[in-house]
Amino acid sequence: MSKKRVYTFGNGKAEGKADMRNLLGGKGANLAEMNLIGVPVPPGFTITTEVCTEYNQLGRDQVVALLKPEVEAAIANVEQLTGTKFGDAKNPLLVSVRSGARASMPGMMDTILNLGLNDEAVEGIAAKSGNAWFAWDSYRRFVQMYGDVVLGLKPETKEDIDPFEEIMEERKHAKGIELDTEFTVDDLKDLVKRFKAAVKKQTGKDFPTCAWEQLWGAVMAVFDSWTNPRANYYRRLNNIPDEWGTAVNVQAMVFGNMGETSATGVAFTRDAATGEDVFNGEYLINAQGEDVVAGTRTPQNINVVGSRIWAEFQGVSEEERKSRYPSLEETMPELYKELDAVQQKLEEHYKDMQDMEFTIQSGKLWILQTRSGKRTAAAMVKIAMDLLREGKIDEKTALLRLEPNKLDELLHPVFDSIAVRSAKVLAKGLPASPGAATGQIVFFADEAAKFPQSILVRIETSPEDLEGMNIARGILTARGGMTSHAAVVARGMGKCCVSGAGGVKVDYRARTMTIEGKVYKEGEWISLNGSTGEVYEGEVLTRKPDMSGDFGLIMDLAAKFTKMDVRTNADSPKDAQIAKEFGAKGIGLCRTEHMFFEGHRIKAIREMILASTVDGRKRALNKLLPYQREDFEGIFEAMAGYGVTIRLLDPPLHEFVPHQLATQRELAEEMGVSVDVIKAKVDSLEEFNPMLGHRGCRLGNTFPEITEMQTRAIIEAALNLKAKGIDARPEIMVPLIGTVKEFDMQAGIIRGTANKVFEERGDKIDYLLGTMIEIPRAALTADLVAAEADFFSFGTNDLTQMTFGYSRDDIGTFLPIYLDKGILKHDPFQVLDQEGVGQLVQMGTQKGRSVKPDLKVGICGEHGGEPSSVKFCHRVGMNYVSCSPYRVPIARLAAAQAAIE
Ligand code: PEP
Ligand code: MG
Repeated sequence: MSKKRVYTFGNGKAEGKADMRNLLGGKGANLAEMNLIGVPVPPGFTITTEVCTEYNQLGRDQVVALLKPEVEAAIANVEQLTGTKFGDAKNPLLVSVRSGARASMPGMMDTILNLGLNDEAVEGIAAKSGNAWFAWDSYRRFVQMYGDVVLGLKPETKEDIDPFEEIMEERKHAKGIELDTEFTVDDLKDLVKRFKAAVKKQTGKDFPTCAWEQLWGAVMAVFDSWTNPRANYYRRLNNIPDEWGTAVNVQAMVFGNMGETSATGVAFTRDAATGEDVFNGEYLINAQGEDVVAGTRTPQNINVVGSRIWAEFQGVSEEERKSRYPSLEETMPELYKELDAVQQKLEEHYKDMQDMEFTIQSGKLWILQTRSGKRTAAAMVKIAMDLLREGKIDEKTALLRLEPNKLDELLHPVFDSIAVRSAKVLAKGLPASPGAATGQIVFFADEAAKFPQSILVRIETSPEDLEGMNIARGILTARGGMTSHAAVVARGMGKCCVSGAGGVKVDYRARTMTIEGKVYKEGEWISLNGSTGEVYEGEVLTRKPDMSGDFGLIMDLAAKFTKMDVRTNADSPKDAQIAKEFGAKGIGLCRTEHMFFEGHRIKAIREMILASTVDGRKRALNKLLPYQREDFEGIFEAMAGYGVTIRLLDPPLHEFVPHQLATQRELAEEMGVSVDVIKAKVDSLEEFNPMLGHRGCRLGNTFPEITEMQTRAIIEAALNLKAKGIDARPEIMVPLIGTVKEFDMQAGIIRGTANKVFEERGDKIDYLLGTMIEIPRAALTADLVAAEADFFSFGTNDLTQMTFGYSRDDIGTFLPIYLDKGILKHDPFQVLDQEGVGQLVQMGTQKGRSVKPDLKVGICGEHGGEPSSVKFCHRVGMNYVSCSPYRVPIARLAAAQAAIE
């Protein structure tokens, strides 16, 4: 049998179902499933994601030929179910064409509505509906959408204006009207004429009148949109593979713009911002699809409760609310009830919060889409725990529902309660995405990086702004509701957002915003509270939120299933403390060099480096000893009862010496030598490739007195704490070994020094002695190394650097191009390259354990806090991962998920 490329659905029947999302995309699979469970869905069909891949390989003509028989049959099925005819003048079938990938990519792909209209069909629709205005408005929208998306008239840069918008604006201006709804039928006819002329002018071709030609054009445009820059960017941001492709959904149109008994909207089964179990959403009467999210008209709440809260935020009186902004519950109570029943059914069926699109056509409700709703981290946690408490899902499912990286949002700042009291509120919008942000105003997304902390201020955002939204600290829009592009995307990113702040007037040309007559320029500071919708003047102090309740329960649950411990990378008692509060069980990496930069330490270390004799070096090291000992005491105390891995000095020495003449002079004076002596020494430390130079254990092996001093400081600190009854558990770690000899040599010095201290003190303490595996040769010879070492810690930063041969510090010049061209899928310094570097990690672990089965193995490179890498570490059988304090909860959750998966 030949391959099936098209799956039909309609009237309670479907060829697909929910678990076919890889083939049908999320939207297509759910449209099929909704049919099967009796939710009213307009009939249609889905072209599979595999066809997108075929399209990219074979091109348009071959793919059309392959699809034709199935698509023709599927259209015939829709014709039969709707009693209409595709391409007919009197009784035309109109369809929507939408993309739908496996993972939801909101706003990434373009949609075309009302396809099938032409100069004859529009009259047919007008006659059939008895509503010429509706017919012509639909036609006007279709020509515009099709022109923008399929024929490429949509402007590419922000300076250019959409030609269709320009024509509409001209017309409105000439007539002295403001809203699209104020156009007359004649206006609409004229607009269509001018739109088509604009198409002809720009493309040299007539607007296609044949429904089939329109359909194929639209289908191919959806496939093309899979590789547009914003889709590419979204995929990279969310780790979605390029090869997945998008499906295409073709569905009979239903119209929310057929008059006052028609409407369209979006609804959520629970609150996407807080996770509360309240049905909510927004709608517009007499409107079509994109109107609700585009922010051109202010959508209204579907239920009375939501509507009242909205009115309060906006300062709208109850009377005005009822007359001007009534809820669906008030305008169409029966349909609201029906919608409420559908949402309950959908949530019960999918056992997760759903985000639905609906349309009411002349009093009949249709569901156009349902999917797992995007939500903030707070909502993600609350919904998972609520569903667990409600008995709808089990513990494992609750944990798997959580996106580890998203937990980061919960650690995001809130305003300092004192500071915010004296802050001046400039404006109020909708609390679109919670959190607090303070930063400098930028007006264009591609300029978001202009300031280290920026707030993106837009009239409204669009998918083109995605990258800038991700960079900005917060987003403020003048238009748009809770389901506007800005709001939905910001919530997905966990970014603070205030939307629909009507009091803010943005002037892109002047790069200013005006609030109550006062002008704010680019670069000025403002602050946003995404939880209340308030916009403040100036910079307002923010602070970290406290975490308790469901967050704590999630972490407890994670602990129940996890097999790996999570440690932290910390160089100070403060960081150690934070990490411990997040549940870190020990320190996996304490980089001792970071302690050298503070106060008098740097002077002593410089003296050590610049000394020309062993004695001179020892004298300087003796000055450092008390500082180091004190630092270690602090860290051991903060992590009492847990292992603390202290790494011996690692970076090349030239990082510590002064490179500026003024500082060199100062140092020369202090040391009583000439500045030339200092300069000569600094020059002699210069290396062509310091990352591969005199660093790591090479330092300790050439200057054993450094290792001696550090070991002494560690052991003495531990003994001092022991004397105070504090349980210090030192683990001494040798960096950057490539041969077992390098390790053995260091081990000899460390053991010798420790024994000496034990003798001096007449007391002992247990300690571990291990090494980092961060040079490929160390991984390849791990069996030899393990014979001598108590533990391995994979330093995947250096291991990645040396396996790829990419300099950690210079990758920035070519990485963006490599990601763009698909040579690399991710930055390998963020996401562990399991295929290559991962092999060394696996081999090193296996070889090590082949001679020492209970060898303790961990990871301390940046990858230790990245979920997919953490899961890899679990599969390799590591004992622990170690990451920066704020990533500890993320790693804990990922580790638990790995164990469950
Ligand atoms: C590593 O190389 O992975 C590591 C943790 O050490 P550093 O980043 O300090 O080189
Ligand atoms: Mg390293």
